[in-house]
Amino acid sequence: MAEFGVIGLGRFGARTSMELLDLGHHVIGVDSDEKAVEAMAEVLTHSAIADVTDEKALQELDLANCEVVLVAIGEDLQASLLCVLHLKSIGVKEIWAKATSKSHHQILSKLGVSRIIHPEEEMGIRVAQSLNYPMVNEYMSLGHNWFCVEISIGEYLKGKKLRDVSSEDSEFFHMLLLKKRDEVTTNPSMDMELEGNETLVMAGSLKALKSIAPKLKEPS
Ligand code: ATP
Repeated sequence: MAEFGVIGLGRFGARTSMELLDLGHHVIGVDSDEKAVEAMAEVLTHSAIADVTDEKALQELDLANCEVVLVAIGEDLQASLLCVLHLKSIGVKEIWAKATSKSHHQILSKLGVSRIIHPEEEMGIRVAQSLNYPMVNEYMSLGHNWFCVEISIGEYLKGKKLRDVSSEDSEFFHMLLLKKRDEVTTNPSMDMELEGNETLVMAGSLKALKSIAPKLKEPS
């Protein structure tokens, strides 16, 4: 269990806080809008109505011990940047922040923010990926055009071997695991026969992963 700070309880900040609380963590939530704080006050570990452009107000919130403080203010560039500066000066080690433009991103990056999030853009990419490859449940970008993807095997693939749904490009593709009900096989053999209800986790270059998409699609 860890303690997180979330500054800005709009839709993005509130949703992230709820998810962290559901995962069993403590969350300190802050917003200058009384209504936003009231809406979350009962579920948050601590909450405060404060203008985070005011360093003194931030100092009083005991955020320095948080594992990560997320600055979820997007629209007000000045408030977002001032808040990051103040968090740095009160000793917060790990700061994540939401950005709404390229210049916002660039300044946050220069200020040493560990992770910069573009919620709409990231969600857009995710939706496009799922529309393009409906069998992809989850994917994670590993950078440099490498991805880790989780794929559901449809019943129409029953009887196929794992090699039939893999890429032969061993430099750019790795089958990491196969999950059948509660049974997990790591580095599965390519000779394994599919039942048509498995989950596969694989990592590879976008090119290698795209090349296997036709093998996974349901025949029309
Ligand atoms: P979302 O997309 O998450 O719904 P939003 O569109 O409501 O966000 P944002 O500008 O990203 O708007 O602001 C998120 C939250 O940050 C709001 O609830 C807002 O009241 C809060 N906020 C903005 N400026 C400050 C500030 N100086 N101090 C504290 N909270 C602030």
